[in-house]
Amino acid sequence: MIDGLARDEVRVLKSYPETALPCRIKMDANENEWGLPQQVKEALIKDVLDFPFHRYPDSDGAALKGKLEEYTGVPAKNLIIGNGSDELIRYVVDAFVSPGDKVVIPTPAFSMYRFFVDLAGGVVVEVGPEQGLRVDAQKVARTAKRENAKLVFLCSPNNPTGEVIRAEDIEMVIEKSPGIVVVDEAYYEFCGRTVIDRVNSYPNLVVLRTLSKAAALAGLRVGYLAAGDAIKNYLYRVKVPYNVGSFSQLAAIRVLENRRAMDEWLDTFRSVRDEFIEDLRRVEGVTVFPTGANFVLLRTDRAHRVWEGLLKRGILVRKFGKGPLEKCLRVTVCPPRQNKAFLEGLKEVLGEVYT
Ligand code: PMP
Repeated sequence: MIDGLARDEVRVLKSYPETALPCRIKMDANENEWGLPQQVKEALIKDVLDFPFHRYPDSDGAALKGKLEEYTGVPAKNLIIGNGSDELIRYVVDAFVSPGDKVVIPTPAFSMYRFFVDLAGGVVVEVGPEQGLRVDAQKVARTAKRENAKLVFLCSPNNPTGEVIRAEDIEMVIEKSPGIVVVDEAYYEFCGRTVIDRVNSYPNLVVLRTLSKAAALAGLRVGYLAAGDAIKNYLYRVKVPYNVGSFSQLAAIRVLENRRAMDEWLDTFRSVRDEFIEDLRRVEGVTVFPTGANFVLLRTDRAHRVWEGLLKRGILVRKFGKGPLEKCLRVTVCPPRQNKAFLEGLKEVLGEVYT
């Protein structure tokens, strides 16, 4: 009986795959394995005692948006905070996609775009990549025009490939698209390239960011979105009140107040990433894709067997189902000790798989 009651769009969906596999080294979810800087933790310990846990949060997040204005240069009135940027993807789809509307997604892509579009009854039009799994920006723009797409999703650096899309290409897509272009910059801090300063010049641009990655706050669920006044006003109509908890807002403020700690960490991170990638390139039987993010995509013939071999050694990375990424694994860059353990594990597993 219940099956007959569920919405058609929901009946065909599958639950988001659970990745809570036990492991010693977690390299599957692009989290920040260094964790929060010590001074942020210490500030939060002091905050806890007098914290008004009994009060609802500031629904608009005014104090946090003030800090985000300093961080991004975007006026606070053009920002919306979300329960992770996942929630903000949903707001954009809820506000602009009616059943049957077309949404262009270049593939391979972060899975939540399709998830929310499917849920809304929208029609996803996928645009396959160029050589090297790079986004084919010309084709994305042509497809958006031809399909009169309500929305286009771009992600830079792209998850799962790590590609940083050229600013000229992003702007070309924004200029040629008849609808809204969402540029997901979840991994912005790891490459430093952004179009967030254009939200007041392009009325059809939305930029998504998160504090789950470089800012190491994935567990507290804080994302933000920047858009011109017209889009922002519509998004506020679908926004849930009190969507970001008060302690999460405060933790985000403390991270931004200790921005120097994050910037210094990013310098360290980049050199660790460079070294890890250099080491990976020396491993025979593995192709390494260039990355501007905190993860790296690898290609190896028997990716699923390699994934299993790694898991047996307690190392969890991301594998993919059938399709262009079948032979790929996505690996989060971790502190040097874990990266070294990964490299050793990988070489051992490749030795077993190919003998
Ligand atoms: N966008 C991209 C490209 C991501 O990889 C992720 C996290 N995996 C998100 C958005 C969502 O991040 P959060 O909801 O934690 O802000």
